[in-house]
Parts: sequence; C-alpha cells; structure tokens
Amino acid sequence: MLPVRLEWQRPRDGVECQPARFIEPDGVELDGAIFRPRSPEVSPISYHVANLENPIALHFINCRDNLAFAHFLERFGMLQSERSGAGGMWEKSTELVSFRSTLQTLFRWSSLGPDAVLPRANAVASYSSFKPKLERTSGGGLRLVIQASGLEDLMVMEAMMAIEIGAVITSCAHCSRAYLTGPLTGRRSHSVYCSDRCRVAAMRKRNAEGAKA
Ligand SMILES: [Zn+2]
Repeated sequence: MLPVRLEWQRPRDGVECQPARFIEPDGVELDGAIFRPRSPEVSPISYHVANLENPIALHFINCRDNLAFAHFLERFGMLQSERSGAGGMWEKSTELVSFRSTLQTLFRWSSLGPDAVLPRANAVASYSSFKPKLERTSGGGLRLVIQASGLEDLMVMEAMMAIEIGAVITSCAHCSRAYLTGPLTGRRSHSVYCSDRCRVAAMRKRNAEGAKA
C-alpha cells in the first residue's frame, strides 16, 4: 500500500457555526448551519496516511452534532480549500451530513465480497483525484507517495484502504463511537472497546454494578 500525503491548511482562529436555511434544488427548505473560519488566517498542516490506526475519516464519522463538526474543521481543516466566487472557505451542514453518510457506507462495504463491493466503491471513489509524487526520504533516497487533492479525498482513500485490507467498522461497547478493527488498525478483529480507556471504564462500571448487587 502506497502512503497517501496531503498538504493542507486549517483555520488559525477557529471555526464558527451559524444557523442557516437552505433551499434544495427540488425546492425543499432545510434548516441547517454554515461553518466559516473566524478569520482568513490559516496554518499549514501535512497529513501522511500509511495505516488505519487513527483514520481522519473516523473522526469525521463520529461527529454527531454541529459543535462536533466545528471542532473537526478546526482540528483537521475545512473539507474544501476554497469555494470559487463564494467568499472563501465555508461548509454547509447538509453537505457535511451527506458526506458523513457516504463515508459510513464505504466503510460498511468492507464486509461485502469483492463482486458486490467493486462497482460500488469504485463509483464513489471516481469523484476523487490523486497524483503520484516522489519525495526525498531522510536517508537521501526516493519514495513514491500518492498526493490527495483535498481532505475529502484523503478520507475516501482511508475507506478504500479499509475495504482493500478488510478492516471493519464497529462501535465501542462503552462510548458507542465508531472505530476500525482488523489489519493495519492496531486492534484485534474481535475487540469490543475503542481504547484501553473505554475497556477500563467498562470494567469499573461492571465492578461497581456487581458491588451494588
Ligand atoms: Zn470507546
């Protein structure tokens, strides 16, 4: 598996979330929110994905409300670098929710067989764009990486990696957050908790309930 690289930027002064009403192409009005950086200032950030131990896509899938989406965009950067002719960077809650559901679906497909998953996953990924890039290694040699064009593409690539190697999306028995198990995830395929912290917390809870009984 070739590592995937993204040179990106994130808002230096955070992201604000304002209520908004959207009129969809079919005329339906939806209440939602717009996310905008608080200032045009950005800090560069470089992503290098070579395994599935802490996928950015899972942080996105675990955003359950607008506040969580705002924290994601502050931490990892906006999904789009700029919207042409529309006053810089911004995101619509409806589009974030729709992309989250696309990602969830892609990860769930890792449990389908190749015949079922191939046409579907490739159709979703056909909207992404990637470039081959040679980099200098610290030892002075060369390394081939795949360069993503944006944060959405990077997350789609993480899902495609999960499908290829058979990593499975599941939810933690303690905190109910989604996480991956299996190859390249650093977790056994039968694991029940997302982290040691949740495993210990669940054990304490069981012990406390046992003591009460
Ligand atoms: Zn957990």
